[in-house]
Amino acid sequence: MIDTHCHLTFPEFSGRVAHVLADAALVGVHSCITIATTTADSLRTTALAAEHPRLFASAGVHPLYSDKPCDWDEMRRAGMHPKCVAWGELGLDQHHETPPLATQHEVLDAQLAHIRAWESEGIVKPIIVHCRKAFEHLVPILAKCGIAGNRFVFHCFTGDSTDVRRVLDLGAYVSFTGVLTFPKAPELREAAKLVPVDRLMIETDAPFLSPQPVRGVHPNEPKHVVHVAAALALCRRANLAQLNAQLDVNAARFFGEALRSPTMQSP
Ligand SMILES: [Zn+2]
Repeated sequence: MIDTHCHLTFPEFSGRVAHVLADAALVGVHSCITIATTTADSLRTTALAAEHPRLFASAGVHPLYSDKPCDWDEMRRAGMHPKCVAWGELGLDQHHETPPLATQHEVLDAQLAHIRAWESEGIVKPIIVHCRKAFEHLVPILAKCGIAGNRFVFHCFTGDSTDVRRVLDLGAYVSFTGVLTFPKAPELREAAKLVPVDRLMIETDAPFLSPQPVRGVHPNEPKHVVHVAAALALCRRANLAQLNAQLDVNAARFFGEALRSPTMQSP
């Protein structure tokens, strides 16, 4: 299994990343992607990934950090790192009041423009999208930005059936967190049933969103992605082993072959 989205550069994991990754490997989580929130963090995620063979990284600016200092050369440099498998997380967040939406839009537009420009230099990567209560604004922006819809994954999807249809119409992937295990999320489980099996992914978003049955535990850790997989299998009435195999195939198709389980790779 792969935890496709966690934040191992956060202070909660300081000095214990090797331990956290070893604990995850013990329950079958063979790879993790640590996601950047600022351009400075992009240099940290890639440096951390360089230290751990089965840890990969992203480079980008999270909408809730769009009022922090931002250096596009820094992001490009992180993107060139061999362990950097994606751009992001980028997007819009209308759940929180700050930073103002205008600031979020400004950074989103600039970030997408840079990603397009870097593409013409041959730096092509999939993109992790953060979208909270902003589907009707964000999906049309992504549809028009000139990047193919199947290059996006909507991480920590927490929308309803209408939102998931918008995302699927774009052609994007949909990734679920521990929120799927929360008793008060029946609409989310309904939405999860609508996603074609080859467009699903799972993640923890650690240190946040500990799933049931470890919901009170902080920080959340990559090893807990097993609970997300179990919840997804349960709501879709799918065979857990088959679903896990498919989720691995999806993540490797999207993020690259390096993400494939080391034991499954041909010699
Ligand atoms: Zn995140």
